[in-house]
Amino acid sequence: MNKYKDFDNYLKEYPDENGYFGEYGGAYLPEELIKAFKESDEAYEAICHSAQFINELRRIRKDFQGRPTPVHHCERLSKLFGNCQIYLKREDLNHTGAHKLNHCMGEGLLAKYMGKKKIIAETGAGQHGVAIATAAAYFGMECDVYMGEVDIEKQHPNVIRMKMLGANVVPVSAGLKTLKEACDAAFDAFLREHETAIYCIGSALGPHPFPMMVRDFQSVIGIEAREQFLEMTGIMPDAVCACVGGGSNSLGMFVPFLADPVEIYGIEPLGRGENIGDHAATMKFGTKGRIHGFNTYVLQDEAGEPLPVYSIASGLDYPGVGPEHALLRDLDRVHYDTVSDEEAMEAFFLLSRYEGIIPAIESAHAVAYAIKYAKTHKSGSILACLSGRGDKDIDYVYEKYGCGEQFKLKYDN
Ligand SMILES: *Cc1c(COP(=O)(O)O)cnc(C)c1O
Repeated sequence: MNKYKDFDNYLKEYPDENGYFGEYGGAYLPEELIKAFKESDEAYEAICHSAQFINELRRIRKDFQGRPTPVHHCERLSKLFGNCQIYLKREDLNHTGAHKLNHCMGEGLLAKYMGKKKIIAETGAGQHGVAIATAAAYFGMECDVYMGEVDIEKQHPNVIRMKMLGANVVPVSAGLKTLKEACDAAFDAFLREHETAIYCIGSALGPHPFPMMVRDFQSVIGIEAREQFLEMTGIMPDAVCACVGGGSNSLGMFVPFLADPVEIYGIEPLGRGENIGDHAATMKFGTKGRIHGFNTYVLQDEAGEPLPVYSIASGLDYPGVGPEHALLRDLDRVHYDTVSDEEAMEAFFLLSRYEGIIPAIESAHAVAYAIKYAKTHKSGSILACLSGRGDKDIDYVYEKYGCGEQFKLKYDN
C-alpha cells in the first residue's frame, strides 16, 4: 500500500516552481518568448486558486459544458469476456463531443481574467481548433487558429466548424504544411501579439506552464469519475485506463487516483506495428529528449529529429508525450501499454454494438485495453476514459471497415 501513500502530496511536489516533473518538462524557449510564457504562468498561479475563478469555472462546466458527465457500466460488453466489469467515464457527452473543451474553457476563462482580447492556437486534425474556437465564441474573443495547408485540405468539416464559430483559420504553407509548421507559426504570432493575446496549447504538452495548467483543468474528469464510481459501487475500481496522445485526457483521469490503491494504465497507439513510421508509441520506443520546448520521451532519430509517426487515430499520432507521463512511469505509478489499429477497431465496433456508444477511434484504444484487461482478470473492475465520440470518424471507418460485420461474427451467437 505504501506505493500509493507516497502520492498524498504529489500535487504539491509536481511540477516544481520551474515547471519540472522530475527531469522532464521545463520551458526551453527563445529569449523573446520567455516573458510572454511567464505572464501566463504568473497569472495562472495568481488567479486559479481564487474562489471567484473556481466558481465561475464550475458554473461554466455545469451550464455550458453539461458536466458532470456520467459513468456508464458496460454490462453487455463485460459479459462477453466473463466477470470483470468495464465502466466508462463519458467524456464523449461533454459539449463538442470530447474532453478537449475542459481545458479550453479553463484557458479561455484565464484569458478573460488577464484582460486578453484574442486566443492564438495551432491545430492538426482540427479537434483542438474546434474546442478553442468554441471557447473563444463563448467568451467573445477573437481567435486565430494556425493550421497547415495539408491539414486544411484533409480536415474540411473541422475547418468549416471553426469558421462558423467565428475563428480565423490561418493557413500555414511552410515545410510539410502540417502540425509542426502550424505550431511554429502560432508561436511566432504569439511573440508578435502577446500583449493582447493568450496562447492555448492542445494537450498537456509544451513549455511550462501548459502541461500543469492543462492537467489541472482536465482533472475534473478523474475527480468526478472517482466520486461517481464510489457512489455506484461503494469501492474503488481495481484499474483505470485512458488513451495517451499528448496526454491530457489520461492525466485528467489518472491524477485524482494516484493516492488510491488502483492500478493505472496509459495506452499508446501501436498502429500497424513496431516499425518506425507505423506507430506513435513514444513511451515504448522513445528515448529521452526535447521537443517543442520541453524535456520528455521522444520518438527521434540519432540527431534528435522527431521520427515520422502513425496511428489510425489522428489525435494520437504525436512523436512526444506530456512530461508528467514520463515522470509517472519513472515513479513506477502508471503502466504504459499499447493497442494496435486492429484492436482499437474491434473495440470501436463492439462498443457500438453492445453498448450503443460509437466512440472516437482515439478513445477506442482505451476501450480495447479495458477489454484486454477484462479477458485476463476473472473479477474486479476497470474504469476507462471514453475521451470522445465517434461522429467525426464514421465516414472514414465506413470506407475502410464497412459497418464492422467481420467483428460482429466473432462474438454473436
Ligand atoms: C485529441 C484527442 C485525444 C488525444 O489527446 P490527449 O491530449 O492525449 O488526451 C484523445 N481522444 C480524443 C477524442 C481527442 O480528440
